[in-house]
Amino acid sequence: MSESPLPQTLLALHEAGPNPAALFDVNDVLRWANKAFCEAFKVQPDGRLGWADMVRANHASGQGAVIETDDIEAWLAATGTRRGKLPYRAFESDLADGRWLWVSETLLPDGWMLLLAMDITALRQDARSLRQAHVKALRAAETDSLTGLANRRQGMKLLQQALGAADQWPLSIAMLDLDHFKQVNDQLGHAAGDQVLVDFARQLLAGTRREDGCVRLGGEEFLLILPAAALGQAGVIVERLLAKVRLSRPLAEQPEFGYRCSGGLVEARWGESAEALLKRADEALYRAKAQGRDRVERDDAPA
Ligand code: GH3
Ligand code: MG
Ligand code: MG
Repeated sequence: MSESPLPQTLLALHEAGPNPAALFDVNDVLRWANKAFCEAFKVQPDGRLGWADMVRANHASGQGAVIETDDIEAWLAATGTRRGKLPYRAFESDLADGRWLWVSETLLPDGWMLLLAMDITALRQDARSLRQAHVKALRAAETDSLTGLANRRQGMKLLQQALGAADQWPLSIAMLDLDHFKQVNDQLGHAAGDQVLVDFARQLLAGTRREDGCVRLGGEEFLLILPAAALGQAGVIVERLLAKVRLSRPLAEQPEFGYRCSGGLVEARWGESAEALLKRADEALYRAKAQGRDRVERDDAPA
């Protein structure tokens, strides 16, 4: 029996078509892109180029996607909190050459992501600014303005969604809280405290996977949502994060200053409510604080 020619035909159609198409792997490395994508975003997949590098290069050269920001790392942090968290999302994107794209991102079951875009430059221009303002307002409502992470409200939505999505299980979460953070503010000032919070958010994003949810619950308290991670694997991610935080020196004016954090790690039980899960994580965090901080405590009691 001969194999169906359909996959090859579909690929050939994408290769030749005018609509940008690309595949990113679980590490967000660009693994395949058609001619239209390479031309629109001024890239060539070489097996190493990651999504963030592509965005940085576009921003630095003023080519490819238009990125309106003075702080590209903050932009990446904020966008990283939305990218790859839901099975599907779609948004508008401007190109420096004046074209305007409707971009969709679909997460595939193996963690790869399919990006498909369509040229919508010909659509009504007059409705565009209104739509862009609407999108900006929606994003602001779900984003923590200091760190760019998902805010508490959005974090709860992400958690509810993960709890209900059987294909994301086993599911673990970690509640994280900076140690003796009040002292940082008292001794170095509130602005320095803010810099530490921003640094911690960067460590969270850099140290986790694309599908992980990074949330600022409020103050110096954060939540990590770790889909497809049992307690053991989640423990590796969080321990590695704590190790990186220990080495971080976020204040240029105080080059010796370092900080620490504590964590409470739990694996969700099927049918458990978000509130019950958070309560267990909070109790584990409390134990980590009581036992001397700068550590992760797990709740591995059987259900
Ligand atoms: P522990 O190790 O037990 O967690 O001690 P802690 O000092 O970190 O905890 P505590 O809850 O007493 O203090 C938290 C501090 O976080 C108090 C508050 O001033 C500070 N804080 C909360 N939100 C912000 C913020 O947005 N910026 C800054 N700079 N500080 C904040
Ligand atoms: Mg604290
Ligand atoms: Mg706290």
